[in-house]
Amino acid sequence: ATPTAILVGTSLGAKQGLLIRGGDVLERLARVDCVALDKTGTLTDGKPTVSAVSSMNYDQTEILRIAAAVEKTASHPIAKAIISKAESLNLTIPSTSGQLAEPGFGCLAEVSGHLVAVGNLEWVENRFLKKAPPSDVLNMERMVMRQIPKCSRANHSDTIVYVGREGEGVIGAISISDNLREDAQSTVSRLNQRGIKTMVLSGDREESVANIAKTVGISGEQVKASLTPQQKSGVISSLQEAGYQVAMIGDGINDAPSLALADVGIALQTGAQETAASDAASIILLGNKLSQVVDALDLAQATMSKVY
Ligand code: ADP
Ligand code: MG
Repeated sequence: ATPTAILVGTSLGAKQGLLIRGGDVLERLARVDCVALDKTGTLTDGKPTVSAVSSMNYDQTEILRIAAAVEKTASHPIAKAIISKAESLNLTIPSTSGQLAEPGFGCLAEVSGHLVAVGNLEWVENRFLKKAPPSDVLNMERMVMRQIPKCSRANHSDTIVYVGREGEGVIGAISISDNLREDAQSTVSRLNQRGIKTMVLSGDREESVANIAKTVGISGEQVKASLTPQQKSGVISSLQEAGYQVAMIGDGINDAPSLALADVGIALQTGAQETAASDAASIILLGNKLSQVVDALDLAQATMSKVY
């Protein structure tokens, strides 16, 4: 494309809420034949809520109180969900020190003299070098599931995070519900209609990811769960090695390495205090709509053929 066409394309993009950074972005986008999507905040709307809390030995409110304390300064949507639940119940949130968020895994801090971790099961267990008895974990999951309406282990897409405390190991589970974006399914099918391969890459657990992916029409080897941020970018590079021109769509700090590595990194502007994703991306969807990805592809193709 001529420099003029690129300039026109970029400014047309701005009018549609597409922030395009760099002169060669539209050219690269026009060649994209694989789109990888993050789950939490990308296929889902990123405004999760707490759907259930369970514990073998403590009140649900105690679990929420200490989890909210740990998550107080974290920016992950899961953190926001836990804090709003604690606030809506008027719980007194204890003060903390030394808070540390580990993107893709969880968050930990010292609460009332004990280290408390909130995050995925394996990570929490590793923090305390203490594996919870599988029966306890299963029981807590069952307790959580009984509180979620119309829920069975096989079909639910809730994310479950675990709460662990120094000296005790895992002491509670919190289930988080997140709604699918209304345009998720239609966007995936429009991408597929163009002959673009679609993938789901997520740090969340297998079942949740598989259920969400299936709902939008993606399954089998095109779905990868339990990925660390580094493993996510590893998948991007193997797709590239297989000859694909890859666009990655994400929203969080955990997506930043993949957004940077992809041929085109696309970030949704979710309004969260999260700039890592936008910093790493070359296109930002200012309207926070997944369907804008298709607008961007249209624009890229029009720019390359100089038809507007
Ligand atoms: P996704 O790839 O689907 O956007 P993330 O990589 O952000 O998901 O998170 C993966 C998993 O790590 C979550 O499902 C959760 O179990 C855990 N996790 C990450 N950050 C936090 C946090 N701040 N609090 C609790 N759990 C977290
Ligand atoms: Mg995400």
